[in-house]
Amino acid sequence: SYKDAYESTLQYFEGDDLAAKVWVSKYALKDSDGNIYERTPDDMHHRIASEISRIEAKYPNPLSEQEIFSLIKNFKYIIPQGSPMTGIGNDFQIASLSNCFVIGSGTDSDSYGSIMKIDEEQVQLMKRRGGVGHDLSHIRPKGSPVKNSALTSTGLVPFMERYSNSTREVAQDGRRGALMLSVSVNHPDSEDFVNAKLEQGKITGANISVRIDDEFMQAVVGKEDYVQKYPIHSKNPKVSKVIKATDLWNKIIHNAWKSAEPGVLFWDTIIKESLPDCYADLGYETVSTNPCGEIPLCPYDSCRLLAVNLLSYVENPFTKKAKFNFELFKEHVGFAQRMMDDIIDLEIEKIDAIIHKIDSDPESNEIKATEKNLWIKIRKKTIEGRRTGVGITAEGDMLAALNIQYGSKEGNEFSTLVHKTLALAAYRSSVEMAKERGAFAIYDAKREEKNPFILRLKEADPQLYGDLKKYGRRNIALLTIAPTGSTSLMSQTTSGIEPVFLPVYKRRRKVNPNDKDVRVDFVDEVGDSWEEYLVFHHRFRQWMEINGIDTDKKYTQEEINKIIEVSPYYKATSNDVDWLSKVEMQGAIQKWVDHSISVTINVPNDATEELVNQLYIKAWEVGCKGVTVYRDGSRSGVLISNDEKK
Ligand code: UDP
Repeated sequence: SYKDAYESTLQYFEGDDLAAKVWVSKYALKDSDGNIYERTPDDMHHRIASEISRIEAKYPNPLSEQEIFSLIKNFKYIIPQGSPMTGIGNDFQIASLSNCFVIGSGTDSDSYGSIMKIDEEQVQLMKRRGGVGHDLSHIRPKGSPVKNSALTSTGLVPFMERYSNSTREVAQDGRRGALMLSVSVNHPDSEDFVNAKLEQGKITGANISVRIDDEFMQAVVGKEDYVQKYPIHSKNPKVSKVIKATDLWNKIIHNAWKSAEPGVLFWDTIIKESLPDCYADLGYETVSTNPCGEIPLCPYDSCRLLAVNLLSYVENPFTKKAKFNFELFKEHVGFAQRMMDDIIDLEIEKIDAIIHKIDSDPESNEIKATEKNLWIKIRKKTIEGRRTGVGITAEGDMLAALNIQYGSKEGNEFSTLVHKTLALAAYRSSVEMAKERGAFAIYDAKREEKNPFILRLKEADPQLYGDLKKYGRRNIALLTIAPTGSTSLMSQTTSGIEPVFLPVYKRRRKVNPNDKDVRVDFVDEVGDSWEEYLVFHHRFRQWMEINGIDTDKKYTQEEINKIIEVSPYYKATSNDVDWLSKVEMQGAIQKWVDHSISVTINVPNDATEELVNQLYIKAWEVGCKGVTVYRDGSRSGVLISNDEKK
């Protein structure tokens, strides 16, 4: 039962209630009657290791089940994320192992038929788990003529509502369906798009991002006019609209400042750097991203995610002798890349099971056609490109454990070195797999020879480049940095490349003041009594223990501040890290990540729109593929809507 699993898992996580709840509700193996078949994550890790080793055994030099188990056990080194964690070896669900999908051809017509088809595909995918993204730039702008009883078209916004509502319909056993809607800044309705979520309660089922091109950014910086077109970027547009670039930019900035959306995607950077786009004419043209933005994708492609836990490579963490074990790290990154490739074989088995299920449904072929075709298209891309999403978690804790300040020059340099090492080791592993297992089907060295990411690999490791040209590689694109939202709760580390949020925070628990031995720290307006207690970030507590600082004492805020001051987390939290430096770090790391990076720049509530403007422009200049800002308290600010309350 839930209670049994929760109790054994609570013990497993040494009393960490949040980690235990997240694991049992989202990831433990269960059937549709709510029976739970795993008592702790150890059972799950055995299930995953057994399945991955079954695939390994088909290829030369296989990793054993025991080797795989020891890599994934206790979320210590290699963490298959989300969908792979629940789905691998899970026969209770017919679901996909992919975390991310993108649909829509990019050159779709905007007929009602085609808009509804995307709506159905979105739901069919979410039903099998995984986030979905699609782009709306092909929909004709508001007021354009249509040859039916409406006479003119409604534009983008009503369709955003449709897709958002569909997302909210689909449940995913503890997780929620997640949707990304994007549009090009070149589209004449992009202003309506960026304003669409301002109204309270509108489009709550989708994240929205604008694809920004370099021409637009140059017009912003130079305060020039910019021409929007439909079809976008057409030489022969049906609609064109001259706007002041700064007017639209300022709206984007204002909305991001006010409500953390839209995110921006620097589209020319994404395309220029993308390896799959070297195969654009074969169906690999990137058109949108997954919900959190870290995987730009072509239509009907998918990606599975895995995080390497960076903190575990620090030997003697939080001491003067702390040292990052690059050798072990390189070896494990190689294994991680192989395990991701194995998971593609497991995913193909899952897709086949889904197609079999559709075939054996009593529903008519006419009804089943869209769903079946969808999975056939996804199956083809999965096999042809064998895309992987090897990423990391615990960047912030890794730096702290090495006594390096997050956001400092030294920190940025060290992080860049780690990600460069990761990229070279993952590509090396993919090249070795090409020798043993075969290169991805459409690999063509000539097509990639001018790609900037490949040129960087060539400069960093000429031998790797030589082997790549000779043998190809197993996977069309390999790397990413995801938010690792629930992953980091279970690894009990900072998430993705983010710094720690708060090293220490206060929580209140309700008490009965008549009980013996209770402390009442606070009485609220209705007269209830509360005890306040401190919650330490796990690794901050680890640092305290290692340095002989009592973790049970009731500290005052002042005392706590003093302790933080001498800790490696000082001025290295999401609230007090140097924001511009964080953007520079993202840009530098991006050079070694072939997909994208999910990152949020947290700024305080009193941050100005001008700061957001500077951060966004900086992000474009330093080569980030996207950026989002979250101003403290701004989301609830949106919900208060027109009220003057702030
Ligand atoms: N995702 C999703 N639903 C969720 C959380 C995540 O579909 O509730 C997908 C989405 O594509 C997102 C990706 O998983 O971009 C990675 O999210 P994250 O790294 O936070 O995953 P986690 O650590 O929770 O597995």
